[in-house]
Amino acid sequence: MDLYEHQARELFARYGVLVPDAEVADTPREARDAAERLGGRVVVKAQVKTGGRGKAGGVKLAVDPAAAELTARQILGMDIKGHTVRKVMLAQPVGIETEFYVSYVLDRTAGRFLAIASAEGGMDIEEVAATRPRAVARIPVDPDEGVTASKAAKIAAAAGLPPEVAPVLQQLWQVLTQEDALLVEVNPLVRCTDGRILALDGKVTVDDNARFRQARWGAYASDQQTDPLEAAATAKGLNYVKLDGEVGIIGNGAGLVMSTLDVVAGCGARPANFLDIGGGASARVMADGLSVILSDPAVKSVLVNVFGGITACDSVADGIVQALESVRLTRPLVVRLDGNAAARGRAILDDRAHPLVHQATTMDSAARRAAQLALTV
Ligand code: GDP
Ligand code: MN
Repeated sequence: MDLYEHQARELFARYGVLVPDAEVADTPREARDAAERLGGRVVVKAQVKTGGRGKAGGVKLAVDPAAAELTARQILGMDIKGHTVRKVMLAQPVGIETEFYVSYVLDRTAGRFLAIASAEGGMDIEEVAATRPRAVARIPVDPDEGVTASKAAKIAAAAGLPPEVAPVLQQLWQVLTQEDALLVEVNPLVRCTDGRILALDGKVTVDDNARFRQARWGAYASDQQTDPLEAAATAKGLNYVKLDGEVGIIGNGAGLVMSTLDVVAGCGARPANFLDIGGGASARVMADGLSVILSDPAVKSVLVNVFGGITACDSVADGIVQALESVRLTRPLVVRLDGNAAARGRAILDDRAHPLVHQATTMDSAARRAAQLALTV
């Protein structure tokens, strides 16, 4: 899960990293009041989970509370790379002397973390790395050793950062480890004209696997802007992912679902979404899953591909029949059942004899049929 800048800022402050005074607002009026409290002059910043807000016009200086209200009105509702701005952060402006880049990322291949730092912060770090790779230092960090004072000094020196940045590198390491983060990035970390080192922006990605021991994350989750169907599926305990094609896909088990996506793509159609009903799925789960998939208007046909193991195909067929009672099927459904209780499952669907339900015996023929139906509707 990615955090918003204002959430990252709060975490940084908790670990002693200096950040500008700031408040969050979701209306222009609130932005004006916040600017008033912050001393009048503020930087108005779009809160979206994507970078490059500055370039997109989502970071603007306002000279007084009235200007902050106007600027917030412009930025709220703006679309930045497909993300709608619903909140702005108002921050006290700081006088910047130099901008640096610092981050810790998980290096999965090496099984370690990587400290990435550069004296050329503020701008697009990917561009700096591509054009002047030597301006970006990449130092492996052993998770068991962590970032000690001497390690921090080494990272700062390698990137050409002033030594006073070193303690901040240690604090950011604490953020990473204590908060179960996979990424902590500050761009820019700045030296102010008064000499202080401040984090002016923050990107933190936390590891969802640690949710069980991070009580505070509940507040973050309620603030997520997820796809409404994804939210509905999660509420029903289903694993649903929205894609951009036209064939809805339901399968059991991640491996089978992934290969079903590939086979559908191989037939010239694109998956609209997919839903993994998992092992041991009941008729109820199947019915819930089908209703979620059919709520997506982009779906032109649905492919149900189940290989019965713990999940018995007759339960899946019962689920489909149940779903047909509660959801009016307006698009064709291609079902391939194989494995445990496949014959009983197929017989249940044959008995129901719904005109829009088609059965196929192999994954290939099922995918071809679903693709063909989706493309001709
Ligand atoms: P991003 O474009 O999404 O990375 O957003 P940032 O928060 O990094 O802001 C973009 C740029 O705006 C920064 O690199 C700074 O140069 C500038 N900026 C942001 N906040 C302040 C501030 O308080 N004072 C000054 N002078 N510049 C700021
Ligand atoms: Mn930035």
